[in-house]
Amino acid sequence: MSEQTEKELVKSSILGKELFTSSDIKGRISELGRHITEDYKYKNLLLVSILRGGVIFLADLIKEIDLPLSIDFMSISAYGFNGTSTGVVRITKDLDESIEGKDVLIVEDIIDTGLTISYLLRNLRSRFPKSIEICTLLDRDIRRIADINIKYIGFKIGEKYIVGYGLDYKQKFRNLQSIYELKLDTVKKDIESLKSSSSIWPDS
Ligand code: 5GP
Repeated sequence: MSEQTEKELVKSSILGKELFTSSDIKGRISELGRHITEDYKYKNLLLVSILRGGVIFLADLIKEIDLPLSIDFMSISAYGFNGTSTGVVRITKDLDESIEGKDVLIVEDIIDTGLTISYLLRNLRSRFPKSIEICTLLDRDIRRIADINIKYIGFKIGEKYIVGYGLDYKQKFRNLQSIYELKLDTVKKDIESLKSSSSIWPDS
């Protein structure tokens, strides 16, 4: 989406605060790419992306990794309860290749409670990868429930629900270049039911 259109969405109060500009994101991804390049020399690197939110991050990240690598995709549907993850996950599209003996790096857009990734870790570990690590662009660690170890983190974020750069609200806003808080007032009608049960949807 053009910068102009994004500014208009902010002006019309659909989007709130811009948390990370496209240049913040680009800079951080380039640093992450450098770290991954150092850590995975002489390894059999396979990046696994979770559809759909993580795809934009994956596409930019692999361009910053100066090593031979492969990519593969998984799609899941999480059985959430009123916007909150429960960790009950169904795989709707599995990986195309075997991960046995490979150095797997799971690439996620955001880790919140950690319940989804924790299910995926258990599932992928049972397929005998040589190693398995996590790289997430955004880490909302204040809501973490599952005990997980994240090797690469782009940015830490607070409670507010965010959109842009792959992250959606009802499948929209994935094509924003920057990452924004979603303006609660504008989407209030849609989330009446969510507010009562999840602290991710504060009243203010
Ligand atoms: P977890 O199982 O870690 O609680 O949930 C992670 C998933 O919840 C993410 O992959 C993402 O789909 C969704 N999610 C959590 N927080 C946000 C957010 O602030 N914005 C968006 N768009 N999705 C979120």
